[in-house]
Amino acid sequence: MTKTLKLYTNGEWVDSSNPSMQNILNPANQEVIAKAPKATKEETEEAIKAAKDAFESGVWSERTPLERAEVLLQIADKMEENLDALIELEVENNGKTKREAESDATDAANTFRYYAGLLNNSSGEILETDEELQTMIVKEPMGVAGLIVPWNFPLLMSVWKIAPALAAGNSIILKPAEITPMTVVKVFELMDQTDLPKDVAHLLMGSGSIVGQTITESKDVDIVSFTGSTEVGRTIMQAATGNLKKISLELGGKSPNIIFDDADLDTAVDHALFGIFMGSGQVCSSGSRILVQEGIYDEFITKYAESAKRIKVGPGNDEASEMGAIVSEKHMESILNYIQIGKEEGARLVCGGNRIERDGMDNGFFIEPTVFADVTSDMRIVQEEIFGPVVVIQKFKDEEEAIKLANDTDFGLAGGVFSRDQQKAMRVIKKVRAGITWVNTYHLTGVQAPWGGYKQSGIGRSLGTYGLDEYQETKQINISTDPKPIQWFN
Ligand code: NAD
Repeated sequence: MTKTLKLYTNGEWVDSSNPSMQNILNPANQEVIAKAPKATKEETEEAIKAAKDAFESGVWSERTPLERAEVLLQIADKMEENLDALIELEVENNGKTKREAESDATDAANTFRYYAGLLNNSSGEILETDEELQTMIVKEPMGVAGLIVPWNFPLLMSVWKIAPALAAGNSIILKPAEITPMTVVKVFELMDQTDLPKDVAHLLMGSGSIVGQTITESKDVDIVSFTGSTEVGRTIMQAATGNLKKISLELGGKSPNIIFDDADLDTAVDHALFGIFMGSGQVCSSGSRILVQEGIYDEFITKYAESAKRIKVGPGNDEASEMGAIVSEKHMESILNYIQIGKEEGARLVCGGNRIERDGMDNGFFIEPTVFADVTSDMRIVQEEIFGPVVVIQKFKDEEEAIKLANDTDFGLAGGVFSRDQQKAMRVIKKVRAGITWVNTYHLTGVQAPWGGYKQSGIGRSLGTYGLDEYQETKQINISTDPKPIQWFN
């Protein structure tokens, strides 16, 4: 039977007063797996008020770091006990492969552990600012954090926000993407089984234009942490001006992966495949533009296309599948449209380019790994984020041209360099205007490292100590060591 999801607010699972429901589909076969509520503006405002009251009551915001750490560890334990369920739900709802979902679920549990660890080591600063003054620097929670997440990593992106926001002592309102609420609902079910006070965390499913917009405009929300498209990021920035709330934006990318003549070719081909086809290319940091030096350009393309054609596309729950489904029909159509644009722009289609509707994929949203070569910087498929299994390959002459091409987009999220010459690789990677970069590898990173973009790929950083800072205010407390009148006047 199709599951009917509910909103979670004040520790209760409740129906929305809005009778309209969102069908939640499995993109591998279009089966309806659940129906999700669409919260109203009033319900969103009530949840924000409850979160604010919880914050002001101090029930969580005034707990000691060690007490908060203990609860984060309880959540991590619960997630680990329920890892299989989380993996299954993520595969079913997002379309990704089991291997990908397993990596996400494990990373998500570790994110709670990491922030618990930071709390266990939390400390402030004391400055000797004046002869008769000591200045303490302390971090405090901000208040209500509005957390808005996309559909491509429903579980991991939610946890990247929930864990540091709660660690800092905030109350939270989370809004998942309309089409992928399943794993987030599970996380809230698990949090409900811990000692997290009931009115601190609220989950609201619903549309961006109602729930998202209400959160962003609310004067009672102190920070909006948003992950999603650059286009919506711009709307968020404008809507947040009412109370000048802090915003943290993790946005789109069109990241360059630079392969020099002297790279180990097999390593470069392997990582450049992983760089774009992991997650069916629906990954913000995908290496979606491969720049290859002229000496190995043809050889690289031949090897790369041979490997791309061998990628086993299929339903995520099939252990043999290496690349899963596209998240929705709408998004699949958008990717296929970009493939058509690429052909019309004169790019050379080396392989792929089609929807797959055979071998158990008849009713799902699957696209072949697609490789375009001989592209130029003025093409839309080189400039715009396609967010699918489509990669463009461009030729460059020398180091200078590689850097110029690499930086020639509005985005600045990620980038990679492949070369056996370590000094050259370092020289080049330092000139790539992006926040997340790799040398002779791609995509690998850790919860300890700051995640975020330059240029139109975002503002602020997730993860690491930087991620905790996003959800904290910094206060100076100046203490006189010798209290007496200063006699400025008279
Ligand atoms: P999206 O921008 O369409 O939606 C993201 C979220 O914003 C959803 O929950 C949506 O309902 C909500 N939203 C929509 N309109 C809103 C509004 N007016 N006010 C408030 N909220 C609103 O993005 P998507 O299609 O779900 O995700 C794909 C995008 O996310 C890609 O561009 C990708 O690069 C980006 N992304 C970035 C990172 C990163 O770390 N930089 C990570 C993952 C995804």
